[in-house]
Amino acid sequence: MVAGLHFLLTYMCNSECDHCFLYCSPRSQGTFTLNQISELLDEAKKISTVESIYFEGGEAFLYYPVMLEGIKIARNAGFQVGVVTNAYFATDIEDAKLWLKPLHELGISDLSLSNDPYHYEDENDNPSVRAHKAAKELNIPVGEIRIEEPSVATDEKQKKGEPIIGGSTMFRGRAVEKLTGGLPRRRWEEFTECIHEELESPKRVHLDPYGNVHICQGLSMGNAWETPLSELVNNYDAASHPICGPLVKGGPALLAREYEVEHEDEYVDACHFCYSVRKALIERFPQYLAPPQVYGLE
Ligand code: SF4
Ligand code: SF4
Repeated sequence: MVAGLHFLLTYMCNSECDHCFLYCSPRSQGTFTLNQISELLDEAKKISTVESIYFEGGEAFLYYPVMLEGIKIARNAGFQVGVVTNAYFATDIEDAKLWLKPLHELGISDLSLSNDPYHYEDENDNPSVRAHKAAKELNIPVGEIRIEEPSVATDEKQKKGEPIIGGSTMFRGRAVEKLTGGLPRRRWEEFTECIHEELESPKRVHLDPYGNVHICQGLSMGNAWETPLSELVNNYDAASHPICGPLVKGGPALLAREYEVEHEDEYVDACHFCYSVRKALIERFPQYLAPPQVYGLE
């Protein structure tokens, strides 16, 4: 089942992108301590399916020494390790190598760099491009994360001529507030499945400093500071989870019906509807819909 554990090392970020589904910004609170990382990596060893550990955020390089030490512990425990960054530190290729060389020495198997119009205006000359060149020179396996802006297309399989939204922007978090305006919408009854996450058998979960174990952003299995992570993951059953259960059976439309959530008639896509319904249910299910800050609530 769960093969990857992704640490949201910090919610803090030097940027404040419109599409950020975690609502990260320079003002965001919540950062792991090394002891907490260590505790969860001990738990990770008890989950037989876990192979890889990722460090991401927010911006993980803002807490560089803690990130390095976390990578070291994870590598010593036998896990593959990856890191996700917007590469803000790469002012110059040679300087970027100073930041990346210790990651190479620790044997990371993936460096994923954000490079798209949300992060950088000039996609050919920016910190991510410089970090990419530095990583190549250091022989670090490196890739790019590219989020395409929403585009409007016509899908003949939908009702005749009905516009659909293309691109890879996920309408959750700040993207709902900043990017849904003016986009075509569809009736809420049409959103009867979750198409982006494997809710019944998640391949990876995100861990945050508050203990939340995210299956999708802001949708948690439970709290790892209250129940050991290995128990949460090994005992997870989507059907008995109060939010995932309805989502698996009938998507956001059933979730809204099941809990009689008041909502609008139309949404941009399933995630937009799902996120909006979940936001309305936070007070009812604080253990499973958390933390409030990823719903834009302080
Ligand atoms: S999308 Fe990435 S770079 Fe942008 S604010 Fe969120 S965490 Fe930071
Ligand atoms: S927001 Fe809801 S519908 Fe979208 S991927 Fe997450 S759980 Fe699935």
